[in-house]
Amino acid sequence: MRERVYIDTDILIIGGGTAGCLAAWEARRVGGPKLRITVVDRANIRHSGSLAAGQNALNAYINQGTPEDWVAYVRYDLLGAPVREDILLSVGYELNETVALMEKEGLPIKKDAQGRYLRRGKWNIEVNGRWLKPITAKMAEKAEAQILNWVYITELIKQDGRCVGAVGFGVRDGRFYVIKARAVLMAAGGAAGIWRSRYEGDAHHRMWYVPFNNGASYAMMKRIGAEMTGFDTRMIPLRIKDTYAPAGTLAIGVNAPMVNALGEVFMLEKEEYVRMGGHTAPTPVRVWACYREIAAGRGPIFMDTTRGDPEKVAGLREQYLDMSPTTVLYWAAHDIDPAREPIEIEADSPFLVGAHAACCGAWTIGITRMTTIPGLFASGEALGQAPSRYISGCWTCGRIAGRHMVQWLEGEGTEVPELDPGLVAQLEARTFAPLERWSKQEFFTNGKPVRGILPREMETHMQNVMEDYCGGRIRYFTVSEPYLEIARRRIDRLRRDQLRYLVARDLFELERAWDVINRLDCCQLVIEHISYRKETRYLGFVTRTDYPERNDAEYDCFICSVWHPETDTLVFKKYPYEQIVPGDRTKETI
Ligand SMILES: Cc1cc2nc3c(=O)[nH]c(=O)nc-3n(C[C@H](O)[C@H](O)[C@H](O)COP(=O)(O)OP(=O)(O)OC[C@H]3O[C@@H](n4cnc5c(N)ncnc54)[C@H](O)[C@@H]3O)c2cc1C
Repeated sequence: MRERVYIDTDILIIGGGTAGCLAAWEARRVGGPKLRITVVDRANIRHSGSLAAGQNALNAYINQGTPEDWVAYVRYDLLGAPVREDILLSVGYELNETVALMEKEGLPIKKDAQGRYLRRGKWNIEVNGRWLKPITAKMAEKAEAQILNWVYITELIKQDGRCVGAVGFGVRDGRFYVIKARAVLMAAGGAAGIWRSRYEGDAHHRMWYVPFNNGASYAMMKRIGAEMTGFDTRMIPLRIKDTYAPAGTLAIGVNAPMVNALGEVFMLEKEEYVRMGGHTAPTPVRVWACYREIAAGRGPIFMDTTRGDPEKVAGLREQYLDMSPTTVLYWAAHDIDPAREPIEIEADSPFLVGAHAACCGAWTIGITRMTTIPGLFASGEALGQAPSRYISGCWTCGRIAGRHMVQWLEGEGTEVPELDPGLVAQLEARTFAPLERWSKQEFFTNGKPVRGILPREMETHMQNVMEDYCGGRIRYFTVSEPYLEIARRRIDRLRRDQLRYLVARDLFELERAWDVINRLDCCQLVIEHISYRKETRYLGFVTRTDYPERNDAEYDCFICSVWHPETDTLVFKKYPYEQIVPGDRTKETI
């Protein structure tokens, strides 16, 4: 048997990122000094997750209007989609307070001559982003949480219908971690690497989103039967070609217009795009418009920095050094000067996110952040149906989750049963199975793989299926039932028949193996959720060629699924949309 590490804690936080660290801080603040808080991350929280490379704006800040106006903007930006207005409002009410807190903790925020935060567009403010992660991590350290770096969580533990902890392995020491907890927060981010990257070989994870966020949040919650929602809102980011740096810095930061190869500012010059909002059209529409232009032979698409504010364009390199230094190196290497030539943009592969511009995640009860599994909470990208929270919203959402977990501990969450040793043994076997298969050489002759499948091989196959049959870039992000049916069959085959041959030669590959196991579960969620929604609601993110129209009568509601292990199928249910902020959902209020 492997060396085991047993931990007994009150609050277990899976993922020491944006939401996780602030959840620890808030739980300590309201829970007092005796509370045992444990934060686990597969990397080191000082430089893990979405904030690792730095970012240069807080995309959610209420610098005008009210929290209600912000919610109206959020739902507008997802084409009037059903969004959890209750959750968004709870974030909106505390958003600015959290930003002020982080500034007090040392985050440098840019200011104007009057000492006010420097605005960037309606809802953004500029920050010196390279400090984001160390300062966020410091909040968990200040909370005196027990921090377990380099531990990969593989499964949640459910006993008597309740979540009572999680298991995982040390990615450096190979030990088996068994963590018993009275409340568990899932904050392990969204999912990258599900569709094929534009790049191959060693660069195959060159992309916008964090390659280490692999959908573990979604997959683990799905596997213990939590209701999952929003997997038909894949996010497709328009980014600077080749470096995948955010293009918002060019659009909002320097006022560069988006143009096609003919130099046409098509969003403002063509009636069909003007009708949908022009340059401030909802995010998915702008993706759709670009790909429509390309399909019509008017690509490539550029951000025309030569028409931007010259002073701001001159400062672009410095801005990118704060969040995407590769861009500055790339421009130098290719002799690109944004003051002299427009910058080419393109869409990256789809990603699964719940706090950026899409809705993937767990369904949660009221504003508690508790999922449909008692004792299991979700925050950050892991929480579904409440998009556009971004960094400041995830900090805030983490804090709210921290508070509700403490409340749960004081109420129903007081007692936690002893962990069932048989279940723990099963989870241990499952965690290390790919490594065991390799060491037993069950499927091998002469040390050469005969029937074993390495993680990279399985990942490639999965990505090809998703790219070709589930609306990848080569299909211009469109889907239809005949394509989905092939995706379903092939992904099911990988999950049901092929996973038993997955092997890992060392701990590094064991991580990769779990990445692909988790991603495959996400594929199932995506295929089934898109297939269930027989309409086109998120034009640009998911355009159904077989159902090109919106069907409000059937689908203007929340759609959730629960995984049934006996049949390995998702069973769907709908909840009505509750509009709290009045008004036309397809319009902004300010
Ligand atoms: C490149 C990029 C640019 C962005 N730009 C902006 C911007 O300019 N402004 C803005 O406001 N927002 C921006 N965002 C969005 C914002 O950063 C995210 O919405 C937010 O940080 C997500 O927080 P989170 O806590 O859900 O995830 P993260 O902060 O990513 O944290 C997830 C953590 O979980 C850990 N983890 C994953 N799997 C496991 C596992 N199995 N076991 C243990 N640990 C695990 C990871 O290592 C990571 O530390 C950007 C995001 C990205 C990726």
